[in-house]
Amino acid sequence: MSYPTPESIDAIFARQRAFFASRQTLDIRFRKLNLERLKAALVDHSEALYKALYDDLGKSREHVDMAEIGEVIHEIDFALAHLDEWAAPKEVPTPDLIAPSRCYVTQEPFGVTYIIGPFNYPLNLTLTPLIGAIVGGNTCIVKPSETTPRTSAVIEAIITQAFPPDYIAVVQGGREENTHLLSLAFDFIFFTGSPNVGKVVMQAAAVHLTPVVLELGGKCPLLVLPDADLDQVVEQVMFGKFMNSGQTCIAPDYLYAHTSVKDALLARLVEKIRQVLPEVGSTGKLVTSQQVARLQGLLASSAGKILVGGQADTEQRLFSATVVDRVQWDDALMAEELFGPILPVLTFDSTENAVDEINRYHPKPLALYVFSRNTQAATAIIDQVQSGDAQVNGVMVHAFSPYLPFGGVGASGMGEYHGHYSFLAFTHKKSVRIVG
Ligand code: NAD
Repeated sequence: MSYPTPESIDAIFARQRAFFASRQTLDIRFRKLNLERLKAALVDHSEALYKALYDDLGKSREHVDMAEIGEVIHEIDFALAHLDEWAAPKEVPTPDLIAPSRCYVTQEPFGVTYIIGPFNYPLNLTLTPLIGAIVGGNTCIVKPSETTPRTSAVIEAIITQAFPPDYIAVVQGGREENTHLLSLAFDFIFFTGSPNVGKVVMQAAAVHLTPVVLELGGKCPLLVLPDADLDQVVEQVMFGKFMNSGQTCIAPDYLYAHTSVKDALLARLVEKIRQVLPEVGSTGKLVTSQQVARLQGLLASSAGKILVGGQADTEQRLFSATVVDRVQWDDALMAEELFGPILPVLTFDSTENAVDEINRYHPKPLALYVFSRNTQAATAIIDQVQSGDAQVNGVMVHAFSPYLPFGGVGASGMGEYHGHYSFLAFTHKKSVRIVG
């Protein structure tokens, strides 16, 4: 795949500035029409997407239907149904101090926006933010991940079919192209990726005082209290940890179980893995051979005990579903977000200690999962651990609700999107006061 020159990127940026200045994007009908175009182009390319997502990440059609294409279409339909209501100016009361006058809040587009996509859900996490850019009335340059080149090529085909580049354009590229794009004076940047690159994005944005949303990652804990339904925990770990080979930002990164239930839980989990995910390739593909080597290195440095898994095929980009018991906080597996099918297991003997340790070692995760039959006990923990999002007795699927804001806090990110929150993320709240 050939990448554009800095000059051609500058030309697209200048044309988008001119297009935004033409005010066409202010029209709500224009935005809806373009949502429809995006949906139609997506449907037209679904076969190509199944193939590309299989080749890039080993994703099955069912997975693509649920977590990639289906999720984007769901967000488009939700936005189409609600955009009129979101975009209507909201009258607010006027305090005596500034009466008589009439006040309202209107949502203004930022202008020329930039979306940087990650590799793990390369379609969903690039196009779902784009829905926000469209409903907010912006123009947009989209840079899909360079590590999933087949899917990125189909994203380009979708966007080229749906939109003129003066309005929405794809720029392919990696670090070099991203560095150039980040030097431009965008009006808003939406980044999904790692905390380290998030810092690079924010530093570059500071030069132009460009607002950012950062959707980052981290180590999401899954806590198991003594009264948890262990079969439910096993089922949810199988889904959350091993889907997409663990390459999900809100996957449970580590299992943190009460000492009284740990052994019984691990016996059931290991048995389930042996039944359902027995092969080295059972969980799908990792994105690159380097990621396989990284996981192998972490596992080799771990002082924990491998209960199941640990096999890898670097060339085929495969890593088996792996559970590592007796892991301590200073273990190699606890140093960074794993982003792979390895589940380290730690234990706690009191919920107070568990809360303290999460807050000390990996504070403010993107998601927090607590399993217990006692909802009050579970929500008490949720109240004591700051996190982007949280669930009791479930994992991951909160991200599928357009009614819930999705985003991190602290090192797991800033800002949120999905549904109405995407509209809010991609617009400025403008207060207007009218006298007379
Ligand atoms: P990444 O940070 O490596 O890359 C993201 C983008 O940044 C890529 O497009 C890449 O071209 C660019 N980039 C990489 N290094 C750069 C540099 N030094 N300077 C400028 N640009 C650079 O992320 P990734 O590997 O694609 O995705 C994995 C990460 O994303 C994980 O940390 C995961 O938790 C996170 N993630 C977060 C969410 C979320 O919604 N919060 C969703 C998915 C993934």
